[in-house]
Amino acid sequence: MSFKKTLTATAALSFLLSSCSTYKPFNEPKLPLTAKLATPSVRAPSSSESEENLNTAFEMMMNSQEPEKEFLDYLSGLKSIFLRAESYLADFDSELDDAVAANSSVSFETSKSYKKLITMYTLSHRLKDKISYHYLRLTDMAYDKSLPSDKRKLAKSILSKFKKKLDSKDPIEKISFDELKLEIAQELRERKGLSTKSLSPAELPANNFKNDQEKLSTLRQYRKMMRAIGKVEADSGDELSQTVESITEKMQFVDATGREPQSELTFFPSTTSSGNVMGLVFPKGVWALTYDDGPNPTHTAAIVKNLDDLGIKATFFWLAQNVIRYQSTVDLVGEKGHARANHSWSHAQLPKLDATGLQKEIVQSTSIEQKSYGQPVQFFRCPYGAGNSVPRIRKMIADLKMIHVFWNVDTLDWQDKDPDSIVARSKKQMQAAGHGVVLFHDIHPQSVIASKKLVEWSKSFKGTPGEIRWVTLPEIVDEMNGAKK
Ligand SMILES: [Zn+2]
Repeated sequence: MSFKKTLTATAALSFLLSSCSTYKPFNEPKLPLTAKLATPSVRAPSSSESEENLNTAFEMMMNSQEPEKEFLDYLSGLKSIFLRAESYLADFDSELDDAVAANSSVSFETSKSYKKLITMYTLSHRLKDKISYHYLRLTDMAYDKSLPSDKRKLAKSILSKFKKKLDSKDPIEKISFDELKLEIAQELRERKGLSTKSLSPAELPANNFKNDQEKLSTLRQYRKMMRAIGKVEADSGDELSQTVESITEKMQFVDATGREPQSELTFFPSTTSSGNVMGLVFPKGVWALTYDDGPNPTHTAAIVKNLDDLGIKATFFWLAQNVIRYQSTVDLVGEKGHARANHSWSHAQLPKLDATGLQKEIVQSTSIEQKSYGQPVQFFRCPYGAGNSVPRIRKMIADLKMIHVFWNVDTLDWQDKDPDSIVARSKKQMQAAGHGVVLFHDIHPQSVIASKKLVEWSKSFKGTPGEIRWVTLPEIVDEMNGAKK
């Protein structure tokens, strides 16, 4: 395993990061090669980036000197982000161990390693979305008989080199690319269902692992090495490290500047940290189990089955773009008595959006979900927690009469693929905090297993002073607001 990939990775990242921070529409670029390409009729549906931005990025890549190299560099960038996040995860876990040893807990507001992880989550999300979109566009080009043959040939050549790298046999690359491949495969299958276009086997990426068990044992075997590489790269002060440092520096979860006028209620739609739900004022032993980013037809359904067996109800914060696609999963979760809430339209970084963008991510998503759930949406959680301390975002949420929700236990299950270490991390945080809101994601296989194990563990305290009671957010809000009235 070598570190020599760092340079190419940095090139890809500089592209990602620059488009990340500027984010403004480009002036009409000159596009000799792809100017006549039609914009695809079906966009990558899970994307958190606007179609316009993705389209511009794609055309810029196709018009660059070396489109193949640029596209392959995205993969080096993704691997770099994955390894870096692994090293920050190790930092966070050791910070947590130190806190537990000192009888205290880690504060997300002041923890650098935690904020770095949130930054990595953002970068990884955006890069995966961008790659999926480009992959689908190239697939369209490669098989579109209405295009001149040299264009089809170019697209095929880029795609086949990219697929070769994506289907790497290197165990670390297999782990780093696994989620991206699943995402691309899902998008491709859904598109096939949506259009009559036939899907060539050459388009679909291969599965990296035979099953979850094989993936887990590979992860366990290489995890130390991945974290070591991530740490060396983090300490190298490369462009990614600098960007992570500067984003982390500015990151703020809690607005400590203002206080809402005193309310009779404990929880209410608010624009500051008074009124919102963080779990910090829940009675001792009371916990809300929450899942973000779904619904997902496979994993959400499996979670609901587990919770049903365990006799527990949870709260789901979903994306409107998934709610539209999976109405039967939405219904199933409602029928089983779990609470459903809003987590935006497409998992965008809200503070980066203008008024139109916010309108879609907050207002339109709420109205879509209200129709889908068949009842008013009472709660909103900002993607990446970004926007918690931004008054214009909080006001928009409050104007829709939604209570803003954060968390005080983060399982970090989006990065950690090992259910056992997810459970260990969650238990430590829960024991240190004593009450609150646990954050999982209902879109990963490891989260299905880990959340089941965590609830099973919680049941071992039954009848003792450490007894744990799981509640949904509407339940605890009614209970505590009612008690205060
Ligand atoms: Zn999320």
